Amino acid sequence: GTQVEWKVFEKSKVYMADLESGLHYLLRVELATHKTLEGEELKTFKDFVTVVAKLFPGRQSVVKLLETLLEWLVSLPLEKIPYDAILDLVNNKMRISGLYLGEQVQWVGCQGSSVALRGYPCSLWTLFHVLTVQAANRPDALANTGFEDDPLAVLQTMRRYIGTFFGCQECGKHFEEMAQESVNQVKTVDEAVLWLWRKHNQVNARLAGSMSEDPMFPKTQWPTPDLCPTCHEEQEGLHVWNEQMVLAFLKQHYGASNISLKYSS
Ligand code: FAD
Repeated sequence: GTQVEWKVFEKSKVYMADLESGLHYLLRVELATHKTLEGEELKTFKDFVTVVAKLFPGRQSVVKLLETLLEWLVSLPLEKIPYDAILDLVNNKMRISGLYLGEQVQWVGCQGSSVALRGYPCSLWTLFHVLTVQAANRPDALANTGFEDDPLAVLQTMRRYIGTFFGCQECGKHFEEMAQESVNQVKTVDEAVLWLWRKHNQVNARLAGSMSEDPMFPKTQWPTPDLCPTCHEEQEGLHVWNEQMVLAFLKQHYGASNISLKYSS
């Protein structure tokens, strides 16, 4: 495969390059397989853009781009939007006003030992963890969007995005099953952060040793003790999570101030 130079990174950090590359892939590659958006698909995409535009702790040029995309989607009286119109907006109109989303993928914390591994799916998990943490840290960010006071805003939007657009349909099916089972038990924005963490670990457990596992990045129950020693406890000889510590760790790890701009050009 294509050789890409290895990028030194710290696993205790989140990289803006991964988040922006993920958004690039989502908007320019994944969405491109849907030639027109209408009905539930359009609603799902609008809600996704709403949540990301309001909560993504990104660089100004990218956040402005997302806000412009949102304004355009909301003001449009159309029931059907051709994908090409979205792409036009993302590509051209925006660059004029200095709004810009890079056109190349640059995986850092999400780089894989081969091009077929990690990358986009890793960035999508990362993005949604960041968004659940932002929703918990900034309770007013979703004011006047229809999502105010909804602790499930990010999770339900993620659920519908994954079910509708995520290229891996098997993944969408699994995620939907997990959501159906327990997402309605989530009553606060903090519980939403923990729910996504728990479900991600469930996926890690299921995928350990499978084909999609990068041998350089074995699936683990995360965060490992080296990242968060106080997250782990033992009760009667059995491992248990200290969820209060896990919550604090997630809010720190996925918080805006832990996002590194290294490798972001
Ligand atoms: P990822 O699992 O992508 O994790 C990315 C990073 O998040 C890790 O490097 C780590 O830093 C951090 N992290 C790990 N665990 C947690 C946690 N519990 N909480 C918070 N942060 C964590 N692939 C399949 O083959 N089958 C599936 O059914 C499937 N379902 C998926 C469902 C969803 C919603 C998504 C987004 C992806 C799914 N995938 C599935 C892809 C798979 O989960 C991985 O994303 C992919 O294999 C790449 O793995 P990775 O090693 O980069 O780590």
